[in-house]
Amino acid sequence: MNIEQIHAKLDALDLTEASRVLAHRAEQAAKEDWSYLRFLDQLFTEELAARRDRSLKARIKLARMPAKKTLAAFDFDAQPGVDRKLIHELATLTFLDRTDNLCFLGPPGVGKSHLCTALMFRALEEGYTAYFTTLDHMVADLKHAQAQEKLEKRIRVYLKPKVLAIDEIGYMPLDRPAANLFFQVVARRYERGSIILTSNKSYGDWAQFLGDPVLATAILDRLLHHSITINIRGESYRLRERRKAGISIPPQAKEVLSANVF
Ligand code: ADP
Ligand code: MG
Repeated sequence: MNIEQIHAKLDALDLTEASRVLAHRAEQAAKEDWSYLRFLDQLFTEELAARRDRSLKARIKLARMPAKKTLAAFDFDAQPGVDRKLIHELATLTFLDRTDNLCFLGPPGVGKSHLCTALMFRALEEGYTAYFTTLDHMVADLKHAQAQEKLEKRIRVYLKPKVLAIDEIGYMPLDRPAANLFFQVVARRYERGSIILTSNKSYGDWAQFLGDPVLATAILDRLLHHSITINIRGESYRLRERRKAGISIPPQAKEVLSANVF
C-alpha cells in the first residue's frame, strides 16, 4: 500500500481536499501521535469545509449580487429608523421557512439595498440559493424571453431560488406587459419562496407606476399576505457621509432626496 493508491481512491470518490491534505496530515498524525479516529476526523472535516466553501462561492456567483454587503457593516446608530432587533431576528432566516416576503420601503440612500443584500448573503451562507435582480432588469429579461417564446424556461431563474431579491421597485413606470410579467413572478412564488424587495414608493403609489389599480391590488395582495414591511425613514447615508465630510449638497438635490413619501 503506497500513498499514491490512496490518492487515487480519494480522487475517485471526489474527496479532493482530503486527497490534497493527505500526505501532510499523515505526517502530522505520526509526529503528534494521533489516534486513527482523530486522523480520519481531521481529513473529513477539511473535506467538508472545502466543499461548503466551494458551494458558497458557486451560489454567490449564481446569485448575481451587485456588491457584498453585510449586517456587520450596517451602522444601526446612523439609521435609528431601522429596528436592530428585528433585523437580527430576520438574520436567523426563519422567515424563509415560513416563505414570508420582506419589503424594505423608503427614500433613496437609507440602506434598503444594503439590508436586502446582507440578508441574502446570510441565506447563501446558510446553504440556500438566492438570486438578485432589479424590477426593470427582470421584466426586460422576461419580455425578451417571451418574444422568443422562451418565457417558461427563463422564468425559472426567478422561481427556483429560495430567495429572490427584487431591487428598485417603483423607480420606472411599467407598461402593461411588464406589469403582467411582474405579477406572474409574484403569483407563482406566492407561498412557495420568499421575495425580498426594495421600493422607494409606498404601497398606495404602486398602482401609479404599475399603470393599473387592479393589477397592483392583485400583486400587493399576494406579496403582503405573509410579509414583513420595514419602512425606513430618515436621511440618505450617502448624503450624511458627504455632509460629515463638509461637502455641500445642491439645494435641488436635497429637496428631491428628502421628499419623504411615507
Ligand atoms: P437604498 O437602497 O436605500 O437607496 P443603499 O442600501 O444602496 O440605499 O445605501 C447607499 C449606500 O450607503 C450603500 O453603499 C450602503 O452600503 C450605504 N449605507 C446605507 N445605510 C447605511 C448604514 N446605516 N450603515 C452603513 N452603510 C450604509
Ligand atoms: Mg437601492
